[in-house]
Formats: sequence, C-alpha cells, structure tokens
Amino acid sequence: MSAEYEMVVGLEVHSQLLTRTKLFCRCENRFGAPPNALTCPVCLGHPGVLPLLNEEAVRLGIRLGLAMGCSIHQRSVFDRKHYFYPDLPKGYQISQFTYPLLTGGGLTVRSGEGTREIRIHRIHLEEDAGKNMHAGIRDASHVDLNRSGVPLLEIVSEPDIRTPEEAVDYLKKLRQILRATGVSDGNMEEGSFRCDANVSLRPGGSSVFGTKVEIKNMNSFRFVHKALLFECERQAQLLDRGERVVSETRLFDSSTGRTLPMRSKEEALDYRYFPEPDLPPVVLDPKWIEEERSRLPELPHERVARLSGEFGIREEDAEVLVLEEDLSRYLEEAREALHEYAGKGGWPVEQGTPRLVNFLLSEVLREWNRKGPAILTGSLAAREISYLVALVVEERLSLNQAKDVYAVCIESLRTPREVVAEKNLSQESGEDALGRWIDDVVRENPGEVQSYREGKERLFGFLVGQVMKKSGGKANPQKVNRLLKEALSR
Ligand code: ADP
Ligand code: MG
Ligand code: ZN
Repeated sequence: MSAEYEMVVGLEVHSQLLTRTKLFCRCENRFGAPPNALTCPVCLGHPGVLPLLNEEAVRLGIRLGLAMGCSIHQRSVFDRKHYFYPDLPKGYQISQFTYPLLTGGGLTVRSGEGTREIRIHRIHLEEDAGKNMHAGIRDASHVDLNRSGVPLLEIVSEPDIRTPEEAVDYLKKLRQILRATGVSDGNMEEGSFRCDANVSLRPGGSSVFGTKVEIKNMNSFRFVHKALLFECERQAQLLDRGERVVSETRLFDSSTGRTLPMRSKEEALDYRYFPEPDLPPVVLDPKWIEEERSRLPELPHERVARLSGEFGIREEDAEVLVLEEDLSRYLEEAREALHEYAGKGGWPVEQGTPRLVNFLLSEVLREWNRKGPAILTGSLAAREISYLVALVVEERLSLNQAKDVYAVCIESLRTPREVVAEKNLSQESGEDALGRWIDDVVRENPGEVQSYREGKERLFGFLVGQVMKKSGGKANPQKVNRLLKEALSR
C-alpha cells in the first residue's frame, strides 16, 4: 500500500453467551446437537408465542461491562430488527437498538513498541439466528434452528484501530476477557466468537474518515489479518487511480485471500426498528451490579501486571503468557514442579522462577511458535523444563548447555533427563569433589599460588584450568571460580 494512506478499522464482534438456555425460551443453548433438536415454538418463531428474558444473559452482559469499564445502563430496551432470511423464521430479530445495555469503555492494544486505547462504542444483547446448511446438499439448502434464539452480545468498537496487528490484538484481548469473566467460550471454529471488520482509508494527517467497506466471513485471527491487508491494498489502488471506494459489504474468501462484493449499501436493508412490544424494558437494580463487581475474577490486564511484577518481566512478555492460555498453564505447572526441585535441592524457589520464566519466553516460546502446542507435552511437559532449570540453578548445567539439551529434546522427543545422562553433561558441582581438586591444585602449584597472592592476577586463569583438567572438564566453571578464589584468599 502507498505509505500516504492511513487505515481506519472498527470491529463488530458477535459473542455467544455461556448460558444454560436460550435468550427468550428454555431450550438448551448447546453446540453440536442434531439439527433442530433444540427448538420450541418460541425459537421456531411460531405466531402468538411470548418471549421471556433469560436473566443469566443480562448478568453476563453486566460482567462484560464491568470488565471493560463500560457504562452499564439501568434501563435498556429490546427492539425488533426486521429482515427476511430463511434462518430467521419470525422475520425479525430481537435486538437492542436505541437503548443498549452498555456503552463506552475500551481496551488497550499493542501498537508497535507502545500501546493504544481502542474505545467501545456500544455493547448490546440480541438473539442469534439459525443456520443455513448448504454443504453436501444438491439443489437445496436446509435450515438448522438450534442456534436460533441463542443469546449474543454484539460488541461494537469505535473506528480507533489503525493496523491489522492492532485489530488482531484487540480481538485476542476481547476474547480473553470474555473467557476470563465466564461470559463466553470464545470458540471461533464453533462460531461463538464472530467478527466483522469495517475498513476505510484516508490520506495521512486527514481528520475525516473515508468511505468504509464491511468485511464478513473471517473465522480466524489469521484470516482477519489477511483480509484487512488485502482490503487495504485494494482500496489504496482504487484511490491511487482516482476512483472512489464503494460503500458495500464484502466477503472474505479464505481460499484466495481476497474479499469479494456481497451487497452494496444502496441495497442496504431498512430494518424498521421498533420497540419489542412483548418484552418490558430491562431495569437493573444497582445492587445487582455491585454484587457482580465483587464476584469478578482477576482480569487479564490485572494478571499481566501481577505476573510482570512477580517475575520481573516486561509487560509485553507477561502479556504473551496471559494471552496464550497454553503457555500460562504450562508456566503454572512448571512453577509448581520447580517448588519440588527447590525443596529437594534446598534452595529458595525465587532463585529459579526468573530463570524459568526467561527460559519459557525465549526457548519454549520460539519452539511453540514454530511447532505449536505439541511441544508442551510428553518429553517436554512442564516438569521436564523445571528439571532443566533446576540443573541450571544448582550449577550442574550452564544456561547454554540447558538450551542445547532443550534443542536436542525438541528434535529427538526425549526427556532432558535422558539427554543429560546420555551426553554425560551434568556438571560436577558437588562442593566436596570440587574442594578436593582445588586443594590438590593449590598444593601442587605452590609457585603460581604464591605469585598470584603477590598480585599476579593473570595466574588465576591458569589455576582454574588446572582444576578443570582434574575434573575431566566436568566441573562447573562458575563454581570453580568462586571456590578457588575463596581457597586462594585463605
Ligand atoms: P453501519 O451503520 O454501517 O453499521 P456504524 O456507524 O454502525 O455503521 O459503524 C459500524 C462499525 O463501523 C463500527 O465498529 C464503527 O467503528 C466502524 N466505522 C464507522 N465508520 C468507519 C469508517 N469510516 N472506517 C472504518 N470503520 C468505520
Ligand atoms: Mg453495522
Ligand atoms: Zn426454544
């Protein structure tokens, strides 16, 4: 893309809620049941039935609002949003339009070396539609209404996002909050976390927005990134040629990495919103909100601050650990195992944790990026890493040797214990053995020792070398250094 354009992105996320039942009926809210097994006259849209609001969905909305610093409105209203589609038998969706449950709030995302605030425009409650099924069916489509009436929160950002990386970080962090608060499982494959992206370009330095395009059908973070890059390039080329961007909805095609037109905004639907006559306004007791506030778990950003303090690592490193649940679980398990090794070895565990975290952020993270979560199990399960780190703390391996062992384990699927034993790597650090070698060397080299003591410091290296030689190269050099210095100053 030409450098003179700035990208402007606003995201709309639909998140299915972890309620036991649907939003307006008591049908089970569950993925994967046989088609139309989880339906009743309400969610099938039969005439004359009455919706009854699921309080649990409102509670989850309040939790998300608290976690994202939104204004939680004591009064919100459900509206009917009308359109025709086979997966919407009622002919309208019950949503919130004029008076949503939540407005404001925001999220902090990584942006290059720094961070940026992405503001939330609004978050409202609505029901999901059913699903048209085309796969494996000729000349027809089937409709599955299990999803019809499943509770959703639609989370609409302000157009504050400026790069594909910021967009992906926003989505990852939002999903993390949804999971941490128990609002949603955030499962993208099963469609409980779905995202539409609004994208426009404007000349750098301009304060007015360009015409936006809405992109749908991106069902992974990687696809969001790809779609935004593609769309940015496409719009830049139009503008470069002096053409205009058409306001439209486009579909991302993952097989080609392109976006394709779906419908233009001239064909935009008039939803004829009006207040849902069958549901009273949602009125919240402030006490309820305070109760939920006191029940919130540790939030991701709080966890980042805590880990960064506890381990003495940078916030962006702590963020990786928090954002990637696989890695944070691995770290917790490894830390527990490290406690055991510390107990056995008689050293304070705090001596090992920074090493453990750094090992994880360098070696493990690199391999995890390369090979995925498989490297966190089996021969390199969490306690194996702790074993390796314990060897380093006890000065039986140097850090570089530990890294080498790790690399061998990755390639050979063997445990660090096996590799260390096989390579006969484990350094001799027993103070008894070292002490004996050092005493021998001091006794056998009286001239050098004398000269060293008189100020010829260069001879220290020679004496270290003698000790190493006696140990057959297996002594730990740092320890030899320390003990030899002690011996020579006696
Ligand atoms: P629409 O009425 O087309 O749905 P909205 O104003 O409701 O548009 O905004 C929908 C989403 O589009 C929001 O996330 C908003 O931040 C984003 N958005 C609005 N204008 C722009 C723009 N010019 N460029 C990129 N995103 C935008
Ligand atoms: Mg919209
Ligand atoms: Zn139902």
